[in-house]
Amino acid sequence: MTSLELPPSTTHDVVNQPPPLVGHDVAEDPVLLAGLEREGAGWHAEDLHRLGRLAGSEQAQTWADQANRVEPVLRTHDRYGHRIDEVDVHPAWHSLLDVAVSEGLAGAPWADPRPGAHVARAAGFYVWGQVEAGHGCPVSMTYAVVPALRTTPDLASTYEPLLTSRVYDPGLRPPAGKAGLLAGMGMTEKQGGSDVRAGTTTATPAGEGTWQLRGHKWFTSAPMSDLFLVLAQVAGAGVTCFLVPRVLPDGTRNTFRMQRLKDKLGNRSNASSEPELDGTVAWLVGEPGRGVRTILEMVAMTRLDCVIGSAAGMRAAVVQATHHASHRCAFGGRLVDKPLMRNVLADLHVESEAATTLMLRLAGAVDRAQGGEGRTGDAQEQAFARIATAIGKYWVCKRGPAVAAEALECLGGNGYVEESGMPRLYREAPLNSIWEGSGNVIALDVLRAVAREPASLEAYFAEVDRARGADPRLDDAVLGLRAGLGDPTDLEVRARRLVERMALVLQGSLLVRHAPPAVADAFCASRLAGDWGHAFGTLPRGVDVPGVLDRVLPG
Ligand SMILES: Cc1cc2nc3c(=O)[nH]c(=O)nc-3n(C[C@H](O)[C@H](O)[C@H](O)COP(=O)(O)OP(=O)(O)OC[C@H]3O[C@@H](n4cnc5c(N)ncnc54)[C@H](O)[C@@H]3O)c2cc1C
Repeated sequence: MTSLELPPSTTHDVVNQPPPLVGHDVAEDPVLLAGLEREGAGWHAEDLHRLGRLAGSEQAQTWADQANRVEPVLRTHDRYGHRIDEVDVHPAWHSLLDVAVSEGLAGAPWADPRPGAHVARAAGFYVWGQVEAGHGCPVSMTYAVVPALRTTPDLASTYEPLLTSRVYDPGLRPPAGKAGLLAGMGMTEKQGGSDVRAGTTTATPAGEGTWQLRGHKWFTSAPMSDLFLVLAQVAGAGVTCFLVPRVLPDGTRNTFRMQRLKDKLGNRSNASSEPELDGTVAWLVGEPGRGVRTILEMVAMTRLDCVIGSAAGMRAAVVQATHHASHRCAFGGRLVDKPLMRNVLADLHVESEAATTLMLRLAGAVDRAQGGEGRTGDAQEQAFARIATAIGKYWVCKRGPAVAAEALECLGGNGYVEESGMPRLYREAPLNSIWEGSGNVIALDVLRAVAREPASLEAYFAEVDRARGADPRLDDAVLGLRAGLGDPTDLEVRARRLVERMALVLQGSLLVRHAPPAVADAFCASRLAGDWGHAFGTLPRGVDVPGVLDRVLPG
């Protein structure tokens, strides 16, 4: 036998490596399915399972891998030297977006009068977001732009039907002639991101209802989108919101000179650019000087998507960890049967279930706040969504990186290797906590709502009180929270502690009402009563670990 005829490995057999997690239904998730029903979108279950099977397919996993390995490339000029400012992406990016848009995860719910349309969309975003997070950015911004655009009926009547379309139509062409549009936003500048009033981009009237913008933006993601909401200063009025198309109605390119793309920690499939605006043609959205208020209509929705995206990342991470532990043996038995590993997995699942339950409740509130055909919006739900979305954005997004790191460790060294998919989840995890309001900014926003919008705090406590009497640890936590919020001293310094507590109390109240007793008890014991360590895997004795793990272990 020559060396060429030797079998591929003669030194060992490959054993004790888990099979790839592929060919499953990502929507086969009891927390998701119960919440979907509860929040009024049970009618979407069949479609969700179809999307879930696609999400679990080898094809989708390959797209995710390709879109992140072959990164976007900026082409500022064509071969003849004309300025084009285009970004080339791997075809897999288009495939991911095509599914997202055609499944109605972008603007579609705004054109769907069915009660639960926003919940159905949130559930889909959660399922498909477990495949790949980067492309969720333009999907989310397209979803979010609609309420902001509605402040200006002329623009909405032209663009809303295309933003709510289920057709993915890539390429830079005049927006009105396309079958579907994607949207982005340009707020952040070099000298100020959170503090958008520090923006220096200017807008001057240019006749026939148009304006000209001059300045720069420091982070503008998904730059191949068709339309952007951009903030600029109007003399005498202040920060104002504008609509900027990449291509003008006459087919010429609007000025959008991308200086470079960001070299980012994660989110690598998604380009984030630094555009220069110079004579850039724009249309007014909302009123001059009301730009922050106008774009907040958009930001409220992208904040919801941050919660959904982080809940999706957690679920994906916990499922991978549990899958690995179910197949990997060490020290004479399966990892999933080792008491300490069971504590880790159960603790991770409790965090994931709390996140998923909260995000579905938020989506339900947004849905009911909108109303629909023949339904008026529910003011109480609107007030609840105002404060609870910010609370959820603060806490669920903060928990994402911790969950990703611990879940990764459950795979041992394999989890540190790119092919496992865990490094991508880990790199992605901090982002949702940064954009659309970083941690401190969101915590202060919650306090602002508490101080200035009493209806929102009342709606929050009305929700929490629905679980009163069900668990003494929750009741105690509510009392403590009321006392904390009632103390006016050093509120700003205490903002994170208060908002964290608001999040835990809200999650606890939802789990006590809707989760199996094992999960609710584990949550209340650890997160509310404090019988818990500082790392995952420190649930106290007495918790029904098998009952918790039933929620995440394959049947
Ligand atoms: C991958 C990526 C994509 C992005 N895409 C876009 C995009 O498409 N469009 C867009 O407009 N922006 C985008 N951004 C920008 C993002 O929204 C900002 O980075 C974010 O809002 C924070 O602004 P900043 O970077 O200027 O930080 P800063 O505002 O300087 O904040 C720095 C830190 O200070 C904290 N802080 C701020 N104010 C206070 C305060 N009063 N008290 C205490 N702490 C405070 C913040 O919480 C933060 O932790 C993107 C960012 C990233 C990372």
